[in-house]
Amino acid sequence: MDNFLWIKDEKQQSMMRKLYDQAKVDRVPILLDNAAGVIDSWLLLLKPNRILEVGTAVGYSAIRMALVSPNSIIDTIEKDPDRANEARANIQRFNLEERVILHEGDALDLISGMKEEYDFVFIDAAKGQYGRFFEDAIEKIRPGGVVICDNMLFHGFVEAEEVPKRYRSMIKKLKVFHQTLLNHPDFETRILSIDDGISISVKRG
Ligand code: SAH
Ligand code: MG
Repeated sequence: MDNFLWIKDEKQQSMMRKLYDQAKVDRVPILLDNAAGVIDSWLLLLKPNRILEVGTAVGYSAIRMALVSPNSIIDTIEKDPDRANEARANIQRFNLEERVILHEGDALDLISGMKEEYDFVFIDAAKGQYGRFFEDAIEKIRPGGVVICDNMLFHGFVEAEEVPKRYRSMIKKLKVFHQTLLNHPDFETRILSIDDGISISVKRG
C-alpha cells in the first residue's frame, strides 16, 4: 500500500518517500508503518502544541509528526552526531526548522533541562534506558498528555523464553519498564503488539 497518500503536497509526498526509502537502504531503524499510523491518529485527535521526541535518527518520524500535526512544535533529541547532521539537513529540506527543533546530545542529560510542557512524548531511543527517559519526562507532561514508546516488544524478545546473551540486560530493563508503565498511578497504559510493539500511556488528571 502507498504509505504517503495522506500528504497532499506532491513535492512533500515525493520527498517523504525518498527519505523513507533512503532510511531503509541505510538500515536506519525508522518507525514502522502500522505504529506510525497509530501515532498519526493520536496526533490528529490530540492536536498537541508541543511534542518531545527521544531518538531522532535521520528525522523521519519527527518530520512525519510535523506534517501530520501542522500546528505542533517538536523538540527532538539525537545523540549520534552523524545522524543529527543528517536529520538537520532533512529538516531543512522540508523547511521545517522552525517547528522541528533538533537537540543534539544524550537525552539522559537533556530531557531534565527542557523548559516546555509537552502534550505528546514519543520515546524511540536506547531500549535499556526507556525507564530513565520516561522518569525525566514525566513532570513535563501535561495532564491528559500522551506518551508513546516504540519497540516495546523488541523483536518478540520481551515475551520470549530464550533471549540472546547480548540483549539480556536490555530486555530485562524493558520488562521492568513494562511493569512501571502498567502499574503507574499517574498513567493509564496499553501495550499493543503491532509492528515491534508500542505502548500508549495517557496521563491522568
Ligand atoms: N524515531 C526515529 C528512529 C530512531 S532510532 C524514526 O522513527 O525515524 C533510535 C535513535 O536513538 C538512534 O539514532 C540513536 O542514536 C538514538 N539514541 C539512542 N540513545 C539515545 C540517547 N540516550 N539520547 C539521544 N539519542 C539516543
Ligand atoms: Mg523504533
